[in-house]
Amino acid sequence: MNGRKLGASGLTVSEIALGNWITHGAQVDNETANACVQAALDAGITTFDTADVYSETRAETVLGQALKGIRREGIELCTKVYHPTGTGHNDRGLSRKHIMDACHASLNRLQTDYIDVYYAHRFDPTVSLEETFLAFSDLVRQGKVLYVGVSEWTADQITRGAALAQELRVPLVSSQPQYSMLWRVIEDEVIPACQREGIGQVVWSPLAQGILSGKYVPDKPLPQGSRASTSAGAPFFERLAGQWLRTDVLLAVSKLSSVALEVGLTLPQLAIAWVLQNPHVSAAIIGASKPEQVQENVKAAGVRLELEVMKQIDTILDGLVERDPAKTG
Ligand code: NDP
Repeated sequence: MNGRKLGASGLTVSEIALGNWITHGAQVDNETANACVQAALDAGITTFDTADVYSETRAETVLGQALKGIRREGIELCTKVYHPTGTGHNDRGLSRKHIMDACHASLNRLQTDYIDVYYAHRFDPTVSLEETFLAFSDLVRQGKVLYVGVSEWTADQITRGAALAQELRVPLVSSQPQYSMLWRVIEDEVIPACQREGIGQVVWSPLAQGILSGKYVPDKPLPQGSRASTSAGAPFFERLAGQWLRTDVLLAVSKLSSVALEVGLTLPQLAIAWVLQNPHVSAAIIGASKPEQVQENVKAAGVRLELEVMKQIDTILDGLVERDPAKTG
């Protein structure tokens, strides 16, 4: 597994990271969660991504348990704050109070003394950026957070955040946006803004939640046990990937399988390798409901796709790709 520097920072992340949204603490039992984490470690994945809000905070607990006993210096643990974790009016957002409370709760659940990259899970228009970045700055000075990131912020929000981060000496080094062959909204604005600020992309849903695995087939029932078919996954799948469950998209995806075959890859491997061709991407965060998926998908690490193959992919997906930067967030 190759490592890549996270933006202009000194932190190295594994180019494929494992995330546990929807899976740990919800869709899969703890034994399967442990097996997925073990498969990731066996494959050389060192970067793990979670969030306080995942599975109503259970995902962090499951990950903390699964990584217990693993040499802390050998892994990068990333988590996030913003979405509600309770019903109180301060149990959400990017206020100083919630950031401090949320960070301490995440440290407890993850059974660790520090978070490698702590993300603002979304932009909070109700709180001043100064308040948010001062809170992050204090967590950094206390050694509880090493680096800071933002997720699904627009180019303008990132630029304003980066100016404050520089003033307050906060190491803002990562952006965590959705990015896949089908969803390329970061290319025109977010990536150039981040490049100017030395911020690297750690991208989510490289398989568009499984659409780019090729298992969803037009006019066929949803595969049993798939994210789209389970009660834990279906609402999120519907909201963020439901738009791709269309005959034209699914037929194009099936054509991508032939491209994958020609270059000796499976379709999930091709899709993950595709995001890793972008030099601004520091890591692709994969999700997995089975250890076998991790074992298959990690083989996308280190793959170089020829320009001709990239062009073939674009031709097949012509007219189907979402590129509108206004869809950020
Ligand atoms: P993917 O696009 O990689 O989708 C993962 C899912 O696809 C798996 O859980 C599995 O679902 C299916 N799958 C994976 N591999 C295969 C395979 N080889 N064959 C068939 N099906 C496969 O990523 P996720 O959507 O899970 O997102 C990854 C991570 O990104 C999250 O865990 C989280 O850490 C982060 N994230 C961050 C967000 C943010 O706002 N910052 C938002 C969303 C995610 P199944 O088997 O159930 O069908």
